[in-house]
Amino acid sequence: MQQRLSELKQQVNQLAVELRQTKALLKLEQQDRLQVELALRECNDQLRQILDSTDAGIAFVDAERRYQFVNRFYEVRFNRSRDSILGKYVWDVIGDDAYAIVKNYIDCALAGEPQSFEFGMTYLNGDYAYLTSCLTPSLNSDQAVVGYYLFVFDSTVRRRLELSLQAANAELEKLVTLDGLTQVANRRKFDHYLAQEWRRAARSQQPLSLIMFDIDAFKRYNDTYGHPAGDACLVQIAQTVAATVERATDLVARYGGEEFAVVLPNTSLPGAVAIAEQIYHVVKALAIPHESSAVGSIISISLGIASLVPPAAGAPEDLIASADRALYAAKQQGRDRYVVDNAAGQR
Ligand code: GH3
Ligand code: MG
Ligand code: MG
Repeated sequence: MQQRLSELKQQVNQLAVELRQTKALLKLEQQDRLQVELALRECNDQLRQILDSTDAGIAFVDAERRYQFVNRFYEVRFNRSRDSILGKYVWDVIGDDAYAIVKNYIDCALAGEPQSFEFGMTYLNGDYAYLTSCLTPSLNSDQAVVGYYLFVFDSTVRRRLELSLQAANAELEKLVTLDGLTQVANRRKFDHYLAQEWRRAARSQQPLSLIMFDIDAFKRYNDTYGHPAGDACLVQIAQTVAATVERATDLVARYGGEEFAVVLPNTSLPGAVAIAEQIYHVVKALAIPHESSAVGSIISISLGIASLVPPAAGAPEDLIASADRALYAAKQQGRDRYVVDNAAGQR
């Protein structure tokens, strides 16, 4: 009995020791876990700080198109609390108009295709912004799409720069192709356009016509009325002819000095003659007095007309030479008229 008692005592002691050891172990484990939790929280805080301090929107949207996570960018841009965004549908947050623009991209992202695009939207405060967005599908372990991650940043500054660059380029293009005085195409544009239309007509075997006209006795006009009046006369004639030539593909250009050219793609000789007659008459109708002209009492012009279907072995210069020949003939025959060149295979 005595022995049994001492055995039990020993067992109790043993168990007490084990209990203490287990307790100590538990305490250690608890400390470890606390440390891990602390580290995890720190890590989370750090991540959140990074996400919130990023000047870009980062979000997770579920397959029902509801925000499940948004960073601070959303609170600031939409001027509402994160809690009032979470759980809300995309259209309720960004508005129906913006949603209509991005809907297709969201459809594709939820079908598993990553999307990247730029779009413009108006915020509630009226600010208009361009946003560059990247949508990355989020897959579960079965490879099913459960939503998408969204990364969006404001590209307004870059976009505005791009737009102003485009406008500047368009302005530059105008400066490079327009005659500064008369505002019709300049010689550079004429050369470029004639070469282009020559190639097109050669390919399609369509007729291409050219009218060249020159103001009669213009030196005397300048001498009589002064150079500024001469300039005004050039502007008036150029603008009147440009308004007369109607087809979008026709081009009126200042060829040089007081000489102009009209390129008429897809126009055969009878059509070109009809346009030359119109030009002749509208200039006449301006009735600009020219008292020192030997030709008449008002400003007149001489016109040369050429038309051809570009032959395989030919160049735009052939058409220019042809119209020039006709213009020269019109001058020779007494000015104030049009002449058709009959040397270049006409139609
Ligand atoms: P023609 O009847 O044979 O064509 O004689 P014209 O006097 O018109 O021709 P000419 O070639 O002898 O003189 C052309 C004149 O056009 C001389 C030049 O000063 C003038 N001219 C050329 N460019 C301009 C311009 O930009 N402004 C003004 N005001 N005159 C110009
Ligand atoms: Mg002249
Ligand atoms: Mg001339």
